[in-house]
Amino acid sequence: MSASNPYECPFTGKVWTPAQRRRSEKLTKQAIVAGDIFKPKQCNRCGKTTGRIDYHNHDYDHHTRYLEPLCQGCHTSMHRRFKKSGPSEIDRSYWRRFVDHP
Ligand SMILES: [Zn+2]
Ligand SMILES: [Zn+2]
Repeated sequence: MSASNPYECPFTGKVWTPAQRRRSEKLTKQAIVAGDIFKPKQCNRCGKTTGRIDYHNHDYDHHTRYLEPLCQGCHTSMHRRFKKSGPSEIDRSYWRRFVDHP
């Protein structure tokens, strides 16, 4: 995913510009610093607890609601898979666990 391209949610078709994403990511970081949400410590997919763990936001319209902690490897491969072949039904049911809107 290029930093200059808009990011489209593979499930809802919602599109966010890089500026909107950056703003949302900044708010997420501020919420961690403020103690509103926990700093991500463990990857939700592979269970890794070492190295860099970041939140993937499943909906950038909300900066704290739909966050999933992922290690860099799982995060990169998820974005790459969506871009290459689109999300599968398994991805969709997985996504539904994080996002409470259709
Ligand atoms: Zn992982
Ligand atoms: Zn992400």
